[in-house]
Amino acid sequence: MAMTASPIRSRENFLVFGAPLIEDAEIREVVASMESGWLGTGPKVARFERDFAAYKNVPHAVAVNSCTAALHLSILAAGIGPGDEVITTPLTFCATVNAVLHAGATPVLADVDPVTMNIDPKRVAERVTPRTRAILPVHFAGRPCDMDALCELATVRDLTLIEDCAHAIETEYRGRKAGAFGAFGCFSFYVTKNVVTGEGGMVVTKAEDTAARIKMLALHGMSKDAWNRFGDEGYKHYQVVECGFKYNMMDLQAAIGIHQLERVERCLARREQIWRLYDEAFANLPVELPAPSAPDTRHGRHLYTLLIDGARAGLSRDAFLNAMNRHKIGVGVHYLSLPEHPYYQRALGWDPEVYPNAMRIGRQTVSLPLSAKLTDGDVDDVIEAVERVLTE
Ligand SMILES: *Cc1c(COP(=O)(O)O)cnc(C)c1O
Repeated sequence: MAMTASPIRSRENFLVFGAPLIEDAEIREVVASMESGWLGTGPKVARFERDFAAYKNVPHAVAVNSCTAALHLSILAAGIGPGDEVITTPLTFCATVNAVLHAGATPVLADVDPVTMNIDPKRVAERVTPRTRAILPVHFAGRPCDMDALCELATVRDLTLIEDCAHAIETEYRGRKAGAFGAFGCFSFYVTKNVVTGEGGMVVTKAEDTAARIKMLALHGMSKDAWNRFGDEGYKHYQVVECGFKYNMMDLQAAIGIHQLERVERCLARREQIWRLYDEAFANLPVELPAPSAPDTRHGRHLYTLLIDGARAGLSRDAFLNAMNRHKIGVGVHYLSLPEHPYYQRALGWDPEVYPNAMRIGRQTVSLPLSAKLTDGDVDDVIEAVERVLTE
């Protein structure tokens, strides 16, 4: 079957999964940074923070060098550490729970809803103990979590809400932006994400003192004058007031992000269009499509996922992945559930069977290319490849 199929005729090059759309404006801005000689944290980072806070309609945004750093610092700034528990989803990138572990706290999993693929507030409520300090939901694929239920639970049980918004730059729930519900919203600008800086992240928060503390922790724990101590206003001594980290963003990265953010809505519109084309093309294939968006929400369209049930589709998920690659289409898996990984089994005793919804999704899911960079021809090639792999 697919093993011997020739590649689809039209495709010359391999379609790289998650390749970002880079345009002239950010190329020129990076070159301008290079020519100015100011590569590190400076005015462009400050502008990117202001622009991002305005886009998210939040008072404060602090740029860092990854979402992993954003999560780590948010957990520390929440005062969470050894002996404390943080409840999160098993269907996420490893960075979500690694950040909890880096802070010395204990991650606790609550299974996802099988349809929305987001953390199920009922399962969260079951996992709350006297040691629970925070809930760390992930707006999976760009679809907002059930924030009414999670916010209510956080209020009633006095828990900090830290949102992993790595997929959710454009996401909204009942008119409010993802990241603005919790005490902290953490974003990623990794190359495959909806806005890219190469590597990069952001924390949004409502409290000025929290923003200042995160900024300080992101640069070695040096007092805040350290950010502009090489300016022209006379030499300033810095003071180390905490043992911080090296998590600051560079102007070179912000130079990319400023222009990426300017076209965030245009890129979302393109991904919405691709999403509709996929939905129409795959409606009658023997696979499960992403659930329709819930009313009064805005989906960030980060990942378009198919669930491949071997018995129904006629081939396994892994065979599907390989067949797509043979048709020169790059695909992804988001994600094998975290308890499938040996480290978490060994260190935390996690067992995938305890989280059956995340386990099934992790074993069946495939992410198709969804970048705004895709041409109409690329989209046709993805559709043709999926149809051929499932029907040959
Ligand atoms: C990408 C991602 C992260 C990590 O982001 P980095 O910027 O690469 O550190 C965290 N959580 C989720 C859900 C992600 O997809």
